[in-house]
Amino acid sequence: MERYDYLIVGAGLFGCVFAYEAKKAGKKCLVIDKRPHIAGNIFTKNKDNVNIHVYGAHIFHTSNERVWNYVNQFVSFNNFVNSPIARYRDELYNLPFNMNTFSKMWGVVTPREAREKIDSQIEELHIGEPKNLEEQGLKLVGRDVFEKLIKGYTEKQWGKSCKDLPAFIIKRLPLRFTYDNNYFNDRYQGIAEGGYTRLAEKLLEGTKVLLSCDYFDFIKENPDIAEKTVYTGMIDEFYGYRFGELEYRSLRFETKRLEEENYQGNAVVNYTEREIPYTRIIEHKHFERSQSPVTYITYEYPADWKRGDEPYYPVNDEKNDALYRKYKALADREGKVIFGGRLGQYKYYDMDKVIDAALACADEELK
Ligand code: FAD
Ligand code: UDP
Repeated sequence: MERYDYLIVGAGLFGCVFAYEAKKAGKKCLVIDKRPHIAGNIFTKNKDNVNIHVYGAHIFHTSNERVWNYVNQFVSFNNFVNSPIARYRDELYNLPFNMNTFSKMWGVVTPREAREKIDSQIEELHIGEPKNLEEQGLKLVGRDVFEKLIKGYTEKQWGKSCKDLPAFIIKRLPLRFTYDNNYFNDRYQGIAEGGYTRLAEKLLEGTKVLLSCDYFDFIKENPDIAEKTVYTGMIDEFYGYRFGELEYRSLRFETKRLEEENYQGNAVVNYTEREIPYTRIIEHKHFERSQSPVTYITYEYPADWKRGDEPYYPVNDEKNDALYRKYKALADREGKVIFGGRLGQYKYYDMDKVIDAALACADEELK
């Protein structure tokens, strides 16, 4: 087989961005992925004029000017603003936590009334410096919002008690005292028009790609295929789990085609009570206001991860971060292998952060 400058393991966003930059710098790359398609978790496929986010809802949002300009070279983004609805039993609330949420929950009207209500609930709890997600959540929004909108959702999402989870997970969610349902605070936001797969296709134009190709089998047969490897799979798997398994959270997606035009009236509806086994239902057509007589919805069921399952989320608590650092110390001594992306760097990265990390990696490597 031909030789390459870089073997890139994983055709997800990190691998695609690195491949594009390397090609631009005159390097010859081979990209492999064990899945039968490119784009990793941002993969979309079109059915009945609807782009389906096969691995869950993907909303692009960033305040990073470089990243925003970068992606806009390849695809256009629409003006979608994520405004999820949270459903707790038969009560519907707006997310993120804002005046619409508080007004519905308590009948308050002004920001001062909302603040007073939350403060009075927090006062009763006597929490010092929050030690875990439960204390963080309670201290942020008080008992009612925590119990109706955070506790059940979080515990099913992560399969653990909120008392055993790191606080940073919900620091992702804004809390504001305005009537603003925008889930994100970032300057730029949208959905890649025509589906995110197009972004991956553009980034990989002119680069050789092998699909349904697992690195561990491939490298046995082709040990000298490339000068260097960029690896975006699981770092613990790369090292044969020699220090033990890192913990991941998996998901099961169940997608249905419905013979109706509009099922839930919003792209994302979260089910925040513990008793319902899924966390959210996505109705894909609303991301792009797609015209179609039918609709596609996806139920997202959180699941424990075991070897062989898809590792969607790293579990960045202290124990796992300490274990990751042991693998990272091995990775730092490699020289010929670069680790990147959500799985290679064991980090709960959003798309913009992955692109930023891939560009930084390419800047450093290709300078
Ligand atoms: P991946 O996309 O996971 O790519 C890694 C690739 O490596 C995979 O295709 C995998 O098959 C391949 N691979 C692994 N091991 C091997 C092997 N041994 N051999 C060959 N190939 C291998 N981000 C946002 O910004 N906004 C959102 O709204 C958002 N929503 C999300 C919703 C969900 C449910 C999830 C799970 C993530 C979400 N993200 C979101 C995060 C986003 O998906 C990631 O930031 C991004 O896709 C990570 O890219 P990556 O290249 O690091 O990893
Ligand atoms: N979360 C919650 N209630 C919700 C939505 C989110 O408690 O209705 C918490 C939950 O712990 C989740 C975290 O906020 O893991 C981050 O949510 P986000 O929507 O950013 O998660 P992602 O899209 O990455 O799964």
